[in-house]
Amino acid sequence: MNQKKLGVLWDMDGTLVDSAELHFDAWVLACRELGREFTREDFRLTFGRRNPEIFDYLFPGKPDPIANAQLASAKELLYRKEARRQGITLLPGVAELMEELGQTGALQAIGSSAPVENLEMILELTGIGRHLGAWIGQENTQNGKPHPEVFLRGAEALGLEPKDCVVVEDAVAGIQAAKSAGMKAIGVTFVGHHPAEKLKDAGADIVVGNLGDLRAGNFFDLVEKPFPR
Ligand SMILES: [Mg+2]
Repeated sequence: MNQKKLGVLWDMDGTLVDSAELHFDAWVLACRELGREFTREDFRLTFGRRNPEIFDYLFPGKPDPIANAQLASAKELLYRKEARRQGITLLPGVAELMEELGQTGALQAIGSSAPVENLEMILELTGIGRHLGAWIGQENTQNGKPHPEVFLRGAEALGLEPKDCVVVEDAVAGIQAAKSAGMKAIGVTFVGHHPAEKLKDAGADIVVGNLGDLRAGNFFDLVEKPFPR
């Protein structure tokens, strides 16, 4: 077991699982109730952000915390219902990489914009909870990515310094959050919402096509620690 600590902070949507279409369907249904269309362009502009920021975009200049909270809970309920019905599978390489990191003594956490109830459902459906020391979601932060708060809280929950942590992300805002937090960042393009050049421009230290391209040793190299033998 490595004496030196390594923390791996995972983004959830687009990195560990691809739940984009489930979210899109849920937004369309929830917005229809309020008489607003929800388009692919709306989705492109809001995906990966926290619900409070999405409402500011969908209904600009109309701060109505009660209506927003009702829409949020309706949308997330629709999403969880669909996820349970259709099932959710881990993206390529995720299961093997989490297992190998766990065996090296790395600590792992989720840092996501999603509501905690969604995170816990995904942990339940995929079985990855056993690898995790913490999961930080929407309710645990005041500021969404690219603010570094979600990853700083993740590191804190694992008892680690930012410099000992590597973030894995599929989105530009997430890479920016990792760099603002003083952490190393790995970009993954498998789901394809953000091209490799954009992730590199945002400060990603490495960009891979899928997580099957990584081994635990790559993470230790990034924080410049000897890989445990
Ligand atoms: Mg993501």
